Amino acid sequence: MINDKPIIRIANACKYFGTLKALDNVSLEVSQGEKVVIIGPSGSGKSTLLRAINQLETIDSGELVVDGDNICDPDVNINAVRMELGMVFQSFNLFPHKSVLDNLTLAPRKLRKTPKAEAEAYAMKLLAKVGIEDKAGQYPAQLSGGQQQRVAIARALAMNPKIMLFDEPTSALDPEMIGEVLDVMVKLAKEGMTMVVVTHEMGFAKEVADRVVFMDHGQILEVGTPQHFFENPEHPRLQKFMDQIL
Ligand code: ADP
Ligand code: MG
Repeated sequence: MINDKPIIRIANACKYFGTLKALDNVSLEVSQGEKVVIIGPSGSGKSTLLRAINQLETIDSGELVVDGDNICDPDVNINAVRMELGMVFQSFNLFPHKSVLDNLTLAPRKLRKTPKAEAEAYAMKLLAKVGIEDKAGQYPAQLSGGQQQRVAIARALAMNPKIMLFDEPTSALDPEMIGEVLDVMVKLAKEGMTMVVVTHEMGFAKEVADRVVFMDHGQILEVGTPQHFFENPEHPRLQKFMDQIL
C-alpha cells in the first residue's frame, strides 16, 4: 500500500553533458511503496534520471531529496543515502571473479559491517527468494542471463535498501528468460518495495505500476496510470511511442 510521504522528490532537475540537456527541468515525486515505471525512446534521459537518483550522476541544477536527505546539501553523507538505494542494470554488472554468494555478501560485510555468517545466512534467504539458492557456489559466467539478473536483484536486496531502481533489467535477456526476472520484480512489488523501473515491458507496467512516466528529450512529457497510457495517451510523441512498442 502506498502512503503519500514522498521518499524521492526531484524538482526542476537539469543535467547537461556538454551542451546536451540530458535532463530538462524534470520534476517527480515518488511515494513510499509506490511503483513508478519510466518509458521513453532511447536517449530520452531515463538512465540519467535513475543514475541521478542514485548519485551516479550529479544534477547541475534543481533539487533532489532521497529519504529526507537533500542530496545537494554538502553536509549530507552521500554514501549513507546510497545504501538505501538498490540498483539493477541492464547488463547485470556482477563481480565476475566472485561466487554468487560472495557477490551478495560483499557489500553488507564491507559497508554495513555485517558478520560473515549473518551475511551469508541472509544471502541464502535472498537466493531462495529469487529461486536460485542452488547456485550459491557458482560463478556468474556459469549462469544464464536470467539467473545472473536474479542474482543481481538479490545482491541489491542484500543491503536492505528502501528503494529499488531498475534500468531496463530485461533488455539484455533472451525472450524466454524475461518472465523469470519479471516474476521476481512482481513479487518484490507486492511486498511493498518502492520501485522505479525503466522498462518497456508494458505487461509488467499494467500489473504493478501505480504510475507510468513518459520521457522524451530529457523531459517528462506525460504521467498517468498504466490504463491511461494504454487507453488515451495524449501527447503525440507518446502516441507514436506506444504504437511502436505495443
Ligand atoms: P536513455 O536511458 O533514455 O536511453 P540516457 O539517459 O542514457 O538515455 O541518455 C540521455 C542523453 O544523454 C543521450 O543523448 C546520451 O547520449 C547522453 N549521455 C548519457 N550519458 C552520457 C555521458 N556520460 N556523457 C555524454 N553524454 C551522455
Ligand atoms: Mg538507458
